[in-house]
Amino acid sequence: MAESSIKIKGKKESFFMDKVKEILPEGGNLNLCLTCGACASGCPATGLADMDPRKFLRMCAMGMDEEVTTTPWVWMCTMCQRCIYVCPMKIDIPQLVFNARGTWPRDQRPKGIRDSCDMALRNPSNSAMGTAPDDFVFVVEDVLAEYQEAQPEFADMVAPIDKEGAHFFLNQNSREPVTEPDEMVPLWKILHLAGVDWTYGSKGWAAENYCLFLADNQCWEHVTRVSAKQADDLGCKVFLNTE
Ligand code: SF4
Ligand code: SF4
Repeated sequence: MAESSIKIKGKKESFFMDKVKEILPEGGNLNLCLTCGACASGCPATGLADMDPRKFLRMCAMGMDEEVTTTPWVWMCTMCQRCIYVCPMKIDIPQLVFNARGTWPRDQRPKGIRDSCDMALRNPSNSAMGTAPDDFVFVVEDVLAEYQEAQPEFADMVAPIDKEGAHFFLNQNSREPVTEPDEMVPLWKILHLAGVDWTYGSKGWAAENYCLFLADNQCWEHVTRVSAKQADDLGCKVFLNTE
């Protein structure tokens, strides 16, 4: 794969890279790149905004701080971590991307992600769709009753909410109860047939966390704590994240 050229200008010190190294255990392994290109070959964001993960890493290492902290490419990375998986040195490029996002003023970060994060902060569901706990409970109970009646082999299936002492605390992408409620059912069926003891929470049930993708650590932590507290309050043993 041909790599687009890197135009070097400005300072050579890697202030940005050094800052990221400070927060990684033992400084991470960001200097170990072999430039093999495996990361770029499987990255869904390769070629967008004239960037790919290998190029981004090299620009970070070369001290091109202004470029790496302003390129819109960081918002095109899906955080899928495929690059780490294929990298022979297991270099954590998404960590660099995340920290580059964090250098953007919050009001200049992508509106769609920002609005979804802010919506989740406004309701105890953590729902980026703004779905209130009562609405979630209503939809779950309604869909469950429909399937229990229509499919007698699942007449005993359950979809508990706030069941104290359940083993698994399950969360749910909040788009499904709003736009595709039937999509919740296959997992209920699997859990039912496997005899799993699980529950949703009426609070903190939404699985998505756009504040993470926004690189807003404070809000990300808040959303996570709301879910974790509900799981703890119910006495659940395992947090089962479906996202
Ligand atoms: S985490 Fe980002 S850089 Fe890595 S493969 Fe996925 S999209 Fe590409
Ligand atoms: S896969 Fe790893 S070693 Fe290879 S170019 Fe990408 S970051 Fe460097």
